[in-house]
Amino acid sequence: MRDINIVGPTDFTDIKIEEPQDYAAGLPAVKIALGHAMKEMGIAKSIATLSKLNQKGGFDCPGCAWPDPTHRSSLGEFCENGVKAIAEEATNKRVTPEFFKKYSITEMSNWTDFQIGKSGRITAPMILRPGSHHYEPIEWSEAFQVIADELKQLDDPNQGVFYTSGRSSNEAAFLYGLFIRAFGTNNMPDCSNMCHESSGAGLFETIGIGKGSVTLDDFQDAEVVMVIGQNPGTNHPRMLSALEKLKAKGGKVITVNPLEEAALVRFKNPQEPKGIIANGTAITDLFLQVRINQDVALLKLLLKKLADLDVERGGVFDHKFIEEKTQGFEEVLAELDQYSENELLELTGLSAEKVDECVELLANNKRIIICWAMGLTQHKNGVDNIKACVNLLLAKGSIGIKGGGTCPVRGHSNVQGDRTVGITHHVSKKLNESFERVFDFQPPAEEGLDVVHSIKAMHEGDAKVFVALGGNFLSAASDTIYTGEALMNCNLTVSISTKLNRTHLVPGKTSLILPTLGRSEADKTNGKERFVTVENSMGRVHQSQGRLQPASDNLMSEPEIVANMAEAYFGDESKIQWLELGINYDLTREKISQVFNGFDNYSERAKKAGFDLPNHTRTGDFSKLPGGKAKFSVTPLPAHDLDKDEFLLMTIRTHDQFNTTIYGLDDRYRGIFNERRVVMINADEAKELELKKSDVVNLTSTYDRQVRRAENFLVIPYNIPKGNLACYFPEANVLIPHDQFADKSNTPISKSVKVRIEKVS
Ligand code: SF4
Repeated sequence: MRDINIVGPTDFTDIKIEEPQDYAAGLPAVKIALGHAMKEMGIAKSIATLSKLNQKGGFDCPGCAWPDPTHRSSLGEFCENGVKAIAEEATNKRVTPEFFKKYSITEMSNWTDFQIGKSGRITAPMILRPGSHHYEPIEWSEAFQVIADELKQLDDPNQGVFYTSGRSSNEAAFLYGLFIRAFGTNNMPDCSNMCHESSGAGLFETIGIGKGSVTLDDFQDAEVVMVIGQNPGTNHPRMLSALEKLKAKGGKVITVNPLEEAALVRFKNPQEPKGIIANGTAITDLFLQVRINQDVALLKLLLKKLADLDVERGGVFDHKFIEEKTQGFEEVLAELDQYSENELLELTGLSAEKVDECVELLANNKRIIICWAMGLTQHKNGVDNIKACVNLLLAKGSIGIKGGGTCPVRGHSNVQGDRTVGITHHVSKKLNESFERVFDFQPPAEEGLDVVHSIKAMHEGDAKVFVALGGNFLSAASDTIYTGEALMNCNLTVSISTKLNRTHLVPGKTSLILPTLGRSEADKTNGKERFVTVENSMGRVHQSQGRLQPASDNLMSEPEIVANMAEAYFGDESKIQWLELGINYDLTREKISQVFNGFDNYSERAKKAGFDLPNHTRTGDFSKLPGGKAKFSVTPLPAHDLDKDEFLLMTIRTHDQFNTTIYGLDDRYRGIFNERRVVMINADEAKELELKKSDVVNLTSTYDRQVRRAENFLVIPYNIPKGNLACYFPEANVLIPHDQFADKSNTPISKSVKVRIEKVS
């Protein structure tokens, strides 16, 4: 075994703490964004890059999946974090073969994720041979042959695991899924397994589609938007513009979260003069600081109180809608009788007045949107959290109307599109038949492995080859040490990447890094430019056309890499013209349109304004569901059985990161600078425990008597409910057991981990 530091260093970086901010964006956001752009790209390239970001005919932001408005501002349709994301990709720094010669993987594994990420763009395909500590260059053709040989040596195709990150285009993801199925497995874990899988599962069961029902325009028509378990200011910043417009039209925003996040207090829109020179817009009308994972208790309490009001004064619920379009309402009401209002209220940690205020807003309005993100999905009862939201919307008749519906806000730019075009470990008979019809082979009928089960299979030696289309699997997954051991147990790990990340440094016996084009880079074949397509969080498919000079002449596009992998594996044995599909994206899109509904005339429509995929919930059509109706669900309260000295910990992101990419060391809105190893604890509780600001603690989690430890965290007394803690992701991922995940969706419980605090000094 190589000597690798799987989790990286645990040293401190000289913390500075200030008061949390009470607004987001404004002039500081512009300055900081431009600072990142200049530092990574210089002036000329920054101007060239930002003028194309999220513009028609330009490239899609590789950050989150928030949709672009129809009319784009020439001032720029991006946020601070979009600029940081693109600056990371378009950086002038390079990771060359000489770089790998200089630094061993052991040495680099002792760098922080921030340092690793800042190394720059990888310029050539690299291989780490068995026993070696240095990656060395390899020709593309040899790299593909290494993969093909290793895959051929497997006893069973199910010994291969093929991960997809949410950055990959529809074209790359479709070809990848096609190759994996043709290879003979459904082992297609993807990043969605770790984030919105609970949303997909909950929504599919209740309203028949695993996606949200609203469009961006619905935000202008809504009367009330509930934002639950989501921090848009950092993770989906341009959602704030939509909320700002809603507020201008008199709409109300209810925020439900254990932390009060600056962006939901006040937003200073940098594209508006009043956002620069004046006070901006107060976003939240009502903040409910709910305890971690007590959302079901809150949603039950709201429904119970609304039901009483409905009896008392009538007109609160939409009985016609309930009668005609739904099933299971009576069971849900009957189950609510089991609980007293006080009991539910106590669980939430909220005041009765605040809850009543919320009830009034919901009772008096019908056009209600509920938005959510990981704060709802990454719990053992993540799927029930979603169903509880749906219950509320169905009772109000708020789904299938203008200005109302479900809005799971996706975190990675094409995570939804990858799913749409076939990246899933689940088996659908209908989908298999479509692939068979179009490509004349029988896809495997056996359910594949998702993320948590892939990790277990690799750890136990049941999976031996790991291929990742993008992403930083090690840092994204739970139980970092176990996951690292799983990767190192593989015979071969392959990463199709733009930049260096920790997963490359925790390799299988042989490891390949295949460098690919970034979203922003011109993608040409025979001198002709190509474009790819992506789907945003609201089901709209559109083109993304890279414009910049690629980081190296030795990069391949993702579809070409996948196609070459398939060609090397199948040779003449396959009827599929892999190389042609990898080169000709129009042909790939045509094949997508033959397999999936809603993609007719794909290339043409994508090139123009883009198009919306079919979504029956938008017209309130639930006829495809069993019984032909949307489904209310009984959602039990979560049980944590905390010991007296245990807390519930949620992992969160700083404002200087996007998923596993660390742009900087500050979390400006929360007033925490130059440090990531921190634990936020209720200020009164810290006093009771005699913990002071910057005291050093270790955190432990104990599940099935196995103790996991995260060392060296600095205490920050903070405005967070008692009994709750917050730490940054991925530093705290070591505490999350690989076998603790949500029922039905298998999403790791990253937002409700039972932990203890041990004081060090
Ligand atoms: S809101 Fe999301 S997609 Fe839009 S610019 Fe910001 S990070 Fe990129």
